[in-house]
Amino acid sequence: MTRVAVVGSGVAGLSTAYRLAPDHDVVVLDRDAIGNGTSSRASGVITTPVDYPDQPAWSRHAIEFFRELDGTGVFEWTDREYVRGVRPADVDAARETATSNNDAEESSATEVRLVDADAYADVFDAEAPYEKALVWPGTGYFDVDEFLATMRRECVRRGVEFRPDTTVESVRVTDGAVAGDEVAGVETEYGSVDADAVVAAAGSATPDLLADVLRVPIRPFTWNVAYLEADLPDGVPMGGDPVLGAYWRGTRDGRLLVGIEHQYGGSDRATAPPEDPREIGDELDRLLREELPGILASVDADAPVVRYECCPMADATTPDAKPIIDAPAEAPDGLVVAAGFHGAGVMAADSIGTAVRAHLTGEPAPFSLSPFTLDRFESRDADFPFRTMFRQSVPGRDGGA
Ligand SMILES: Cc1cc2nc3c(=O)[nH]c(=O)nc-3n(C[C@H](O)[C@H](O)[C@H](O)COP(=O)(O)OP(=O)(O)OC[C@H]3O[C@@H](n4cnc5c(N)ncnc54)[C@H](O)[C@@H]3O)c2cc1C
Repeated sequence: MTRVAVVGSGVAGLSTAYRLAPDHDVVVLDRDAIGNGTSSRASGVITTPVDYPDQPAWSRHAIEFFRELDGTGVFEWTDREYVRGVRPADVDAARETATSNNDAEESSATEVRLVDADAYADVFDAEAPYEKALVWPGTGYFDVDEFLATMRRECVRRGVEFRPDTTVESVRVTDGAVAGDEVAGVETEYGSVDADAVVAAAGSATPDLLADVLRVPIRPFTWNVAYLEADLPDGVPMGGDPVLGAYWRGTRDGRLLVGIEHQYGGSDRATAPPEDPREIGDELDRLLREELPGILASVDADAPVVRYECCPMADATTPDAKPIIDAPAEAPDGLVVAAGFHGAGVMAADSIGTAVRAHLTGEPAPFSLSPFTLDRFESRDADFPFRTMFRQSVPGRDGGA
């Protein structure tokens, strides 16, 4: 049986192991506990039609998996539409978003509607700056801890071996690091692990992991999240505001989860990780206290924060804010990269594992693999200029509160 070493046990590594395990000998190595990286901090907002608008088949496959997994182990899926308020200046761009989505091949399952913001008068504050609302059906949410625990359990049932607390130092190739060579395994802090194939799913650490064998244009990017006490109406939709760089959803216990994007080393907001991590909290606090009460009817300026998820561990991004899932021609044979999910990795879970499997086995995938190949980038430089997915969604606007 083909032996595969998967480096990283976040959503990319776990979904890869899950898809390969039935007929591969899979070992997952993580420098930390299993599933304890960025994936464990995620908000569980599942909006692939919003975040992968050009890949309807990929997007639908991802959500169908969660619906099928519902009720397995401790995992519970909640259907919930996603509503984005649209300012008067952005109505044309929003109309274009709806039109291009609805015209796209196969997109009928997630028809996007542009409606008057008044239709969501119970959600938006009376002073909210919105004229319209973009509405995506077919989205939902779940508790990420429940998802990761369930995926881990299902992997164990399929025979996956987990090696936590094992840092992988490099990918080992048979003979030097030039195209045409083959992967032979990985070097860890405890010695070599032989494998016929290696999947690099190490999040923002992927460029370092691959330094000897492949250059990838990936750099850190993250979100920071707070959970608020709020008086939410039943079934309140999830939502977001690209101009604020923020998103939100209700939780099953009646709280409001709010996230704000934050770039490390970016050209858009912060230019470096702040020396004092509390600065991230300050930015989030300003959003919660000064901006959000004028946006959402259910949020008071003094709503107690019950939990912060200010993430010292970063997610990763590429220049076009889409992941790299590929067995690149310039890499040693047997190496697959699955990283750079830019705040949208959890929602794509089974599509990631399915794509990696397709690369390793040559089997067809139920969606196109080409949007995620490395060769779409001319440069491999990790110091690229970058606009977040949110910013890209409102043409002509660079955001800022
Ligand atoms: C606050 C926050 C909220 C988010 N909310 C959402 C959301 O609602 N929906 C959504 O879809 N996405 C969300 N995201 C994004 C999502 O969390 C990421 O896109 C996703 O978790 C990336 O998964 P990954 O497997 O690539 O990375 P990770 O989960 O970071 O996994 C990488 C793993 O590799 C391990 N590793 C690294 N280097 C090595 C090494 N050398 N040797 C061994 N192991 C190594 C790490 O320990 C880690 O466990 C959010 C992110 C943050 C920070």
